[in-house]
Amino acid sequence: MIISEQYRSKNKDALVQEQPYNILYKHSFGEVSRYFKGLHEHKLMGTICRNKEHHKNKQDILFLPPRADCPECMRELDEWVELQDMDIRIYTFTNMYFAGESFLDKLPLTLINIDVKGFDNSYSKLISILVTDEKGEINIDKKDVRIGMKIKPKFKDVPLEKVDASTLYFVPLEK
Ligand SMILES: [Zn+2]
Repeated sequence: MIISEQYRSKNKDALVQEQPYNILYKHSFGEVSRYFKGLHEHKLMGTICRNKEHHKNKQDILFLPPRADCPECMRELDEWVELQDMDIRIYTFTNMYFAGESFLDKLPLTLINIDVKGFDNSYSKLISILVTDEKGEINIDKKDVRIGMKIKPKFKDVPLEKVDASTLYFVPLEK
C-alpha cells in the first residue's frame, strides 16, 4: 500500500510505503530456566544456599526468584527446592490502580511480596498477584488482605513456550 503523507515541516508530499516487519526475538532464561519450567509443571522452585556459616544472618538463604550465585558467600548455587507445599505468607502488599497494557483490564490488582517460612528470606521477595479464585481471574478485595496471611501458589495452564512471570499467582489459604 502506498499512501501520501506530507513532510511535517516542509509541507511537501513524501512517498511512504507500508511493509510488514517481523522479528524473531529469542529470550533465554539462562540459569534460572528451571524456575520457568517449574511454573509449567505447577511447581514453585527456588534456589537455596546452605553455606550458612558464611552468611550475615548465619541461616540458609532462599532465593526466590532464584539466583544462580549466592551474593553473600559467592558460591555457585546448585540446590533447587520445591516450595509450593511449604508455609508461604504475605510479607507485604500493595494495591495497584494503574499498570502496563496487558494488565489494564484487570485493575485494581493486589501485588504481594512473599516469605517462605524456615529460610532467611532476605533475597526471596517474589512479586506476584493475589486473587480469590482458583482460575486466577477474580481480584481480591483489598480489605481481605493482610500481612502474614497464609497463601498458596497457583499456576495457569500454558504451553512451555508461553510461560512467563504471569503464569504464577496466589490465592489465600485463610480468611
Ligand atoms: Zn551463600
